[in-house]
Amino acid sequence: MSVIEHWIGGRFTAGVSTRRSPVYQPATGLRQHEVLLGEPDDVDAAVTAAAAAFEDWREESLSRRTKVLFAFRELVNARAGRLAEIVSDEHGKVLSDAAGEVQRGLEVIEFACGIPSLVAGSYSHQASAGVDVFDFREPLGVCAGITPFNFPAMVPMWMHPIAIACGNTFVLKPSERDPSASGFVAELWREAGLPDGVFNVVHGDKVAVDAILAHPGIAAVSFVGSTPIARYIHQQASAAGKRVQALGGAKNHAVVLPDADLDFAADHLAASAFGSAGQRCMAISAAVAVGGAADELVDLVSRKAGEVVVGPGRDPASEMGPVITAAAKDRIEGLVAAGERQGATLAVDGRGIKIPGYENGFFVGPTVLDRVAAGMDVYREEVFGPVLSVLRVPGVDEAIDLINSNPYGNGTALFTGSGAAARRFQRGVRVGMIGINVPIPVPMAYHSFGGWKDSLFGQSHIYGPEGVAFYTRAKVVTQRWPGEESSGASLHFPTAR
Ligand code: NAD
Repeated sequence: MSVIEHWIGGRFTAGVSTRRSPVYQPATGLRQHEVLLGEPDDVDAAVTAAAAAFEDWREESLSRRTKVLFAFRELVNARAGRLAEIVSDEHGKVLSDAAGEVQRGLEVIEFACGIPSLVAGSYSHQASAGVDVFDFREPLGVCAGITPFNFPAMVPMWMHPIAIACGNTFVLKPSERDPSASGFVAELWREAGLPDGVFNVVHGDKVAVDAILAHPGIAAVSFVGSTPIARYIHQQASAAGKRVQALGGAKNHAVVLPDADLDFAADHLAASAFGSAGQRCMAISAAVAVGGAADELVDLVSRKAGEVVVGPGRDPASEMGPVITAAAKDRIEGLVAAGERQGATLAVDGRGIKIPGYENGFFVGPTVLDRVAAGMDVYREEVFGPVLSVLRVPGVDEAIDLINSNPYGNGTALFTGSGAAARRFQRGVRVGMIGINVPIPVPMAYHSFGGWKDSLFGQSHIYGPEGVAFYTRAKVVTQRWPGEESSGASLHFPTAR
């Protein structure tokens, strides 16, 4: 069993870590590695390396930074297959899904390749007589990222390519449940020509996270994970005077109107509820059937749930893999049981599924619960498994009210043939990312990603233009050169002439 080490100052190291955590292969249920759990001294070593590297990296020209970014893009593209295998083995998701995650991360790298125009400021010539005003953006210093298990390659790539392109240095604390992708990516950065110390990885648990939050050498923290931890990160990092963006959990509703193409809607609902075994922050976990759409929709989506091929991620025939741990499986199955106890109808039961040859894997089959009510545990909690709850409401206004009463506001979707209904919906919901006949509306890399309410703490959405703004701060220069159009000084507050 190999031991996964930190990456500090351009090399793998155990640092002072002695504690370890198992890394499973979810398909077999076997331990495949152990990962070191970092101590505060390991975080300090990474911050020290990153702070030293910042002195030179911030001075590198945009041209040189762009060259490194392009080289990194080429390497990630060339090794995407291997990276997807690493993700699939530790996370459990099927290879095609892991490849999709790498592709979406790659798109953020490609966005970051445009850094010269992204940080370009504006210039106001002759703002006052003989006076010009211009602004430009500078990096913050050492930035940290703390990331979840469900996208071990993509979510860190929402952060580090942009932070580094902006001239910062970076310390990543990936999920301890699937940590290998980060070391692999660190080696690609090095091969791309990134100077040692610009990108660092410290593995660990709460101990490493708390050390990051308290470290005076870290200027900004990006977090993606569950809501309770996002709230904690936001509070602690803010109290320590850091810039912070903290993206939390979700309960994403897809509303299906009777005028929608129900077969199309059911197809997309099944894909978005069961893809990656429901372990996506943008997964649809609640289908809201409006009026007469309900019975046919439940029939169609149940049929599609029954057709999903569940199996190990490395098998090309598999469409859906296992969930991340045995504990996650137990929790998901417990919430399904609670739903049934509390009055929901079990249309498809994925509990107890056994995959031949993988009997000890953490598999939960696609599950559909009908007639779920807002008070039930399976609706109130983020299930984060392949479970679709169907709620029935009489009209689109009740659907919007239901969504707005939910504490989360990450993503939502509407299936309809009506432009008027779509417009009413997109204006009415208090949710950050909305899909119209698009079930997983993850914004492209050149827009920014973020939810509302308990799905985001802090002002800044992640990646895209808001990512660039988050990882930089602006200076505005007002300048005149005496002698050209000089005017006399006066004691009143300066106004333009
Ligand atoms: P998590 O909150 O358990 O862990 C996220 C990170 O926080 C990990 O690096 C973990 O080591 C660390 N952490 C865990 N407990 C901690 C504690 N008590 N103190 C300090 N740090 C701690 O999340 P997860 O289970 O890895 O990921 C799934 C969650 O992430 C879901 O809630 C999902 O919705 C959310 N998520 C959100 C988005 C988004 O963009 N909003 C994207 C992906 C995942």
